[in-house]
Amino acid sequence: MTASRKPGFPARLGGAPKPAASPAAGARAAAGPAAVTQGLGMDSDAVRQRMVRRLAQAGIGRAEVLQSMGSVPRHLFVDTALAAQAYEETSLPIGWGQTISKPAVVARMVDLLLGAPGAQAQGKLARVLEIGTGCGYQAAVLAQLVREVYTVERLRAMHERARDRLRPLRLANVHLILGDGMLGYAPGAPYAGIIAAAGGEQLPDAWCEQLAVGGRLVAPVAGAGGGQALMVIDRTAQGFVQNVLEAVHFVPLKSGVA
Ligand code: SAH
Repeated sequence: MTASRKPGFPARLGGAPKPAASPAAGARAAAGPAAVTQGLGMDSDAVRQRMVRRLAQAGIGRAEVLQSMGSVPRHLFVDTALAAQAYEETSLPIGWGQTISKPAVVARMVDLLLGAPGAQAQGKLARVLEIGTGCGYQAAVLAQLVREVYTVERLRAMHERARDRLRPLRLANVHLILGDGMLGYAPGAPYAGIIAAAGGEQLPDAWCEQLAVGGRLVAPVAGAGGGQALMVIDRTAQGFVQNVLEAVHFVPLKSGVA
């Protein structure tokens, strides 16, 4: 994991993907079993598997997404006082006025991302850009599913906390960047997938420019009437294809670093 630093490029593209260690196992090895169950008063694995069954019933069809959601210790990404709620179908505060999306929304967006038109030809998606690292949870879920995750956060304190929370999981393929995600992150482009955890009035041009042909962008965008909707944009050899899906509620996309 690199922090506030440009990763080495060219990124490993042709090489065989390194199998990602189970983050749950990593956390246990680094911090001991007590840290994993801390604040839950029960084995977190059992509650997490219950969450996974719920996600499957709710229509998340990709086994690898369910597996990843079933292995990332979500409760370690929220305050200890909220850990007992971590696997409930609810969004939770993560500090500085920001929230982590409820599990079904994370799973849905990641599931959509893996449906990128070019995905089948690649095996695992090569490089994915996440806008809005927040607590780092979704980045950890993505790390199991794609080769390299570039995740940008504009709030320095949030970025640093995410780094601390991700450290015990030892995910060498997650690159944390402090910056304005409205500019994308050019050094990692083109991306096989871009996923935004904050929504603005419009999609920044940089995101479409940095999307590879065959890539998919999944982002909340302001719709008519002030609400937000999930938008999926596929970049094909012929151009961009846009689909507007269900209503969602994400924190606002803001510019600049703070
Ligand atoms: N994926 C996150 C959810 C983060 S909430 C998780 O798993 O926790 C959305 C985050 O987007 C907030 O932390 C907010 O600070 C950040 N954000 C908003 N505008 C941004 C921008 N322009 N660039 C980078 N991050 C941004």
